[in-house]
Amino acid sequence: MKYIINIGLEVHVELLTRSKLFCGCSTDFGSPPNTQTCPICLGLPGVLPVINKKAVEYTIATGLALNCKILPFCRFARKNYYYPDLPKNYQISQYDEPIAKEGWIQINKGNGKTKRIKIQRVHLEEDAGKLIHGYSTKNAQDEPWSFVDYNRTGIPLMEIVSYPDINSPEEAYQYLTNLKKILQYLKVSDCNMEEGSLRCDANISLTPREGEMGVRTELKNMNSFKDLKDALISEVKRQADVLDQGKRIAQETRIWDIKKKKTTVMRSKEEAHDYRYFPEPDLLPLKIKKEWIEKIKEKIPELPSHRFERFIKEYELPPYDAEVLTDSRDLADYFEECVKLFPYPKIVSNWMMGELLRLVKREGKSLDKVKITPAGLAEVLTEVKKGTLSGSLAKEAIEVMFKTGKGIKQIIEEKGLQQISDEESLRKVAEQAIKENPKAVRDFQNGKKEALGYLVGQVMKRTKGKANPKLVNKIIREKI
Ligand code: ZN
Ligand code: MN
Repeated sequence: MKYIINIGLEVHVELLTRSKLFCGCSTDFGSPPNTQTCPICLGLPGVLPVINKKAVEYTIATGLALNCKILPFCRFARKNYYYPDLPKNYQISQYDEPIAKEGWIQINKGNGKTKRIKIQRVHLEEDAGKLIHGYSTKNAQDEPWSFVDYNRTGIPLMEIVSYPDINSPEEAYQYLTNLKKILQYLKVSDCNMEEGSLRCDANISLTPREGEMGVRTELKNMNSFKDLKDALISEVKRQADVLDQGKRIAQETRIWDIKKKKTTVMRSKEEAHDYRYFPEPDLLPLKIKKEWIEKIKEKIPELPSHRFERFIKEYELPPYDAEVLTDSRDLADYFEECVKLFPYPKIVSNWMMGELLRLVKREGKSLDKVKITPAGLAEVLTEVKKGTLSGSLAKEAIEVMFKTGKGIKQIIEEKGLQQISDEESLRKVAEQAIKENPKAVRDFQNGKKEALGYLVGQVMKRTKGKANPKLVNKIIREKI
């Protein structure tokens, strides 16, 4: 590739506050359309907005976690544009005085190399409503209608803008992954792309010369992490083709077409001055005191990259395990809780990555909704360690615990899961198996080692997997 790629990402996330940014309306997702509105978020004349303190706090916390400077003074601004989902005809946003600026996010480049992507700004603004296109249920034969739902109008939205430091679609993917992880650790947003609580736009340009910027296009309508990567790959190729032909790139906004797997023109790109930004006259500027910032700083949890390093050092986990287990704060907390009660980190890690996450995935449940607690898992693993439970019985116990939350003692009793280690009864079953499989016995005696496995298997089958396999092995060897 003879061009240098420059990508900048603009990420919008809805904050997890209970009420909207400038009024007391609820932010719950999925309520019937237009049931969470009031004169303020509908933009009726004569009403005044009041700032949501929690939203400012979340933005400061994010700024700190992203290594930004928090500005002691900031202001809101009106961004003027017309669209049916914007009842006021302007969005209250921030312009040249955001809450936080000049930070960075670290990404992994592979082979132990890292890179810092610089962040330009983190600011706070209000979300717009949602347009729904479709048929009204009563008149299905009619022309399609467009509806507007103002429930989303005024929900606090945090915008995180990077510098165009990202040099490949892969780096963009990494940046977004790490950013999402940090926001989820902070619990400021659920970052659910399907419900629209995380949205990402990209601007991208190609240039043949270092230190120079090409004409950029803006990409919209990427609805998943994979979309983002695919859209960028496709746009890199398109721009390179245009440049190869000696033509110029037009500055425009393009939309990602998921079905056609390419970007198409949406509109020519607007400039900041088109929005006629001016200071919001209905809100006082914010003064952010040092003491407040310090207080917020104290509440910031250990962040994913730090926790990843610590898991490797403190628990001697392989990087792969540490990566999986620190993927979410809940998962990492679960692991540490379990290790406190059963101090064999690698064993806990194996069972969590194997059984627990398998069940979580199969049942499509989030970790905070499953019934097996870290203490419950520790109990199962303790039984395995003691030899009371075999590996396969432990899996069964974990599955029951996952669904019912019952304690291990109760499960063993009810399900009769206890491993049979009583030599006398196993001897009887083994004798039976030997008697009924003379060929396997002969094979073994003629030096065919696999035949022993077959006989052990017969005993396991007869005991429904409950026999202690080591003991069965020993008994059969003695007998034949
Ligand atoms: Zn409202
Ligand atoms: Mn915005």
